[in-house]
Amino acid sequence: MADYFEEMGWQPLAEGQAPNHYLHFARLLRDFNIFDGLSEKLPPPVSKKVLESIPTITLEQDGKQCTICLKEYCKGDTAKQLPCKHLFHNTCILPWLTKTNSCPLCRQEMETDDEDYEAFRKEKMRAKQRESDIENLHNSMFS
Ligand SMILES: [Zn+2]
Ligand SMILES: [Zn+2]
Repeated sequence: MADYFEEMGWQPLAEGQAPNHYLHFARLLRDFNIFDGLSEKLPPPVSKKVLESIPTITLEQDGKQCTICLKEYCKGDTAKQLPCKHLFHNTCILPWLTKTNSCPLCRQEMETDDEDYEAFRKEKMRAKQRESDIENLHNSMFS
């Protein structure tokens, strides 16, 4: 009996062939551990406003790898630069950001259109701020 991959007609990538974005997307999802309980754990997508404000840049030179499709950037490719300064191909990052609101590389979160989630996110940021305030206070007292 033919195995699953053979049945699906899947072949290893030929030289110069574009990888299947959905496969890499699935790999990312797995790395994020969001296959389990997808609906509860995955934060909502980036807000339309933020998505539109993410600059598109045209790459001036080759080099560096897009961490989503794992291909190297070529001169003239268009890429999105997230607020955390990470770069991804347009075609790679857009499907990601319409699913969830964080950078696939450093997980820095961006604003969403989801009110409940925003309340939760702001509370989380405040908690972080408090932590660093306490640390600063501690440092100023003990240094
Ligand atoms: Zn890419
Ligand atoms: Zn990032």
